[in-house]
Amino acid sequence: MNNFDYQQASDVSGTIKLACDNSQAKFIAGGTNLLDLWKYNLVHPSLLIDINHLSELSEIRGRSDGGLRLGAAVKNSDTAYHPSVETRYPLLSRAILAGASAQIRNMASNGGNLLQRTRCYYFYDHQVPCNKRKPGSGCPAKEGYNRMHAILGASEECIAVFPSDMCVALAALEATVNIVGKEGKRTLAFADFHRLPGDRPDLDNHLMPDELITSIDLPEKGFPLNYSYLKLRDRHSYAFALVSVATALELEGDIITEARIALGGVAHKPWRSAEAEEFLRGKPANKENFSTAAEIILKGAKGYGYNDFKIKLAKNAVVRNGMMALNPASQLPGAQPSA
Ligand code: SF4
Repeated sequence: MNNFDYQQASDVSGTIKLACDNSQAKFIAGGTNLLDLWKYNLVHPSLLIDINHLSELSEIRGRSDGGLRLGAAVKNSDTAYHPSVETRYPLLSRAILAGASAQIRNMASNGGNLLQRTRCYYFYDHQVPCNKRKPGSGCPAKEGYNRMHAILGASEECIAVFPSDMCVALAALEATVNIVGKEGKRTLAFADFHRLPGDRPDLDNHLMPDELITSIDLPEKGFPLNYSYLKLRDRHSYAFALVSVATALELEGDIITEARIALGGVAHKPWRSAEAEEFLRGKPANKENFSTAAEIILKGAKGYGYNDFKIKLAKNAVVRNGMMALNPASQLPGAQPSA
């Protein structure tokens, strides 16, 4: 690790000024991914700007439009167990608790969760090329061991996936991301925050270098009655998703009036299909219709050898999770899934 300075500013504008004055600065909240990247020699900040004390970033509070604001520096555990999140947005609570370990969730921040980088093994190995680490150098994952890699939205340059669980639920809930930088404040729809790799796999999202996420807003609608988060992984205790699915439904009787389905572990960003969600509208909530929706979502999916199995796994996960969303109690610890 390189030597570095550590500073705090008394408010957000002072924090942004510190970042603008030093192009090698990094914000730090929990630091769980930043320290990984640092130890793997992927970042070398000369200045750490601590944002944990900023009150604007440190609270969860209701909004006048009926939604809920999640401070960017709030810990993942505190978010998952917050009474308003547990009761109004249980899909988000379940997704957060499916991620990482209890120790990491106690440390990791909400903003940092959005900014974590891929866990592609080649990205961390300086002995091999990687377009995300060094643009133009190549992508050994395409011909290599790609069991964890993308089946949707990949490019010739990169087939990495985004590893978050929390963000899969935020995509399904249609959260928005509040950002501040030297040009002022702006808000991005969650679907527009992360990027597909295209020809710039070195960029994971649309945040500018000196910009800071201040909070994440949840809309009023939280789908508290019919929801499910299903994470399929090699090891239940602690592993990134091979495939995950966040499903949120509104029902009238057994008829779906609104469906949200987001997939994780399959692409460079949480993956949704407007066509599949529209297909489900007005249809009975059953295996047959979820199966058709799964075919629509996975249309165009492509495996790279070791990850071919993820296409069928993802289709089955969409169907199973759709049925589980009909009976959220089936997801309580010790309960058996209904499908
Ligand atoms: Fe690098 Fe992306 Fe290829 Fe992994 S998949 S080796 S991150 S370019």
